[in-house]
Amino acid sequence: MSSKGRKILLLPGDGIGPEVVREVKKILEWFNKNKSLDFSFDEELIGGASIDVNKIPITDEVFYKSLQSDAVILGACGGPKWDNLEFSKKPERALLKLRKELKLFANLRPAICFKQLVDSSTLKPEIVSGLDIMIVRELTGGIYFGEPRGIEPIENNQRRGINTHSYTTSEIQRIARVAFDLAKKRKNVVTSCEKSNVMEAGVLWREEVQLIKDKEFKKVELNHMLADNCAMQLLRNPKQFDVILADNLFGDMLSDEAAMLTGSLGLLPSASLGARDKNGKIRSLYEPVHGSAPDIAGKNIANPIATILSLSMALRYSLDLEKEADLLDAAVQKVLDDGLRTKDIISKGNKEVTTTDMGDAIISKLK
Ligand code: NAD
Repeated sequence: MSSKGRKILLLPGDGIGPEVVREVKKILEWFNKNKSLDFSFDEELIGGASIDVNKIPITDEVFYKSLQSDAVILGACGGPKWDNLEFSKKPERALLKLRKELKLFANLRPAICFKQLVDSSTLKPEIVSGLDIMIVRELTGGIYFGEPRGIEPIENNQRRGINTHSYTTSEIQRIARVAFDLAKKRKNVVTSCEKSNVMEAGVLWREEVQLIKDKEFKKVELNHMLADNCAMQLLRNPKQFDVILADNLFGDMLSDEAAMLTGSLGLLPSASLGARDKNGKIRSLYEPVHGSAPDIAGKNIANPIATILSLSMALRYSLDLEKEADLLDAAVQKVLDDGLRTKDIISKGNKEVTTTDMGDAIISKLK
C-alpha cells in the first residue's frame, strides 16, 4: 500500500459519537500536516442520525463508501430517541449490516490496564498493573448463527429452544491465522479456548488450531485451555495471557470479562477485520467498545481515548502505519502520566479535562 492517499471513512453516529470522532479527525489532520501523510477522510451519517435524515440507519451510498475505504472508524449508534422503533429499523441495525456485509469475521479487543489507572480496576493493582491482552473472537459463525435455530412446540404443552453450535475447518483456520499473526507482533503466545471436554465442535476447534500452528506458525507458542478455566484464570492471573483465541460465544463472554479488568469503558478500543482481498486490502471497522452514552452526550465530557485508540488500531492493522500507531499510543500514555483525566476516570490529585482538551493534549504529545 502506498503511504499516500489512504481513504478513511468516519461515521460519528449518535450521542457522544460525534464528540469523540471529532478528536480522531483532529489527529488525522495533524498526521497529514506534520507527518506528510495524505489521509483523505469523508464523514457520513449512520444510526439514528441517518434515520432522522434518510429514514434508514445506513444508506446504500454510505455502505458502498465503507466498502471502498481503507478503514472505517465509527463512534456509536443508538439512543433513547429511537428506542421505540421496531427491531429491524433501529439505529444498531446499521452496525450489524456493516459487520455482516463486510464479512468481518475477526473481532479484536485489547484489554490493557494502564498503570496510571490501575486503581479503577476491581482487582488488586499487582494482578492487573501492566496487563496487556488481545482477545481474538470469531464473529460470524458458531451458535449465534448456526442452523437449525428457533423455538418449537413439543408434547405436553412444552416448548423447546434450539440453537446450533457449528464450525467448519475453514472458519476455524482463518480466525486461528489472525490470532497467530497478531501473536508474532506481540509476545508470541496464543491461548486457544474451547470446551473440547464436552463439545465435538470444541474437539474440532482444538485440532484445527493445532494443525495451523504446526504447519504455518511453528515458532508461536500455543496453549489450549478450556473456556471455563480461562474465565477463572483471567481473574486469578490475567498477565499469563498474550493472545486469547475463542469462538463467537466464548469470545463474547471472555472479552467482556477481560474488559472489566481494565476498569474503564472509555478507554477500550476494538477492531473487526475481514479477509484480505486480492489487492492486499483488509476490510475493517474500528470502534470504541462503549455505546452512545446518551446520559452525557452534548456536554463535551466524554472520554475520547477509546476512539483514539481505535484509530491507533486502524493505523496498525489496516494502514501499515506501525510507527504512527506507536506514536499515538505513547501520546495517550504521556497525557495520562501528566494526570489529565476526563470525568469518567478522574481521581484525587488529577486534573479534570473536557473531551476537546483531552484530544488537544494528546496531539500536543505527538509533537
Ligand atoms: P454506553 O456504553 O453508551 O454507556 C454506559 C455508561 O458508560 C454510561 O454511564 C456512559 O455515560 C458511560 N460511558 C460510555 N462511554 C463513555 C465515554 N467514552 N466517556 C465517558 N463515559 C462513558 O452503554 P448503554 O448506556 O448501555 O447504551 C447507550 C446506547 O448506546 C444504547 O442505545 C445502546 O444500544 C447503544 N450502544 C451502541 C453500541 C455501538 O454503537 N457499538 C455499543 C453499545 C451500546
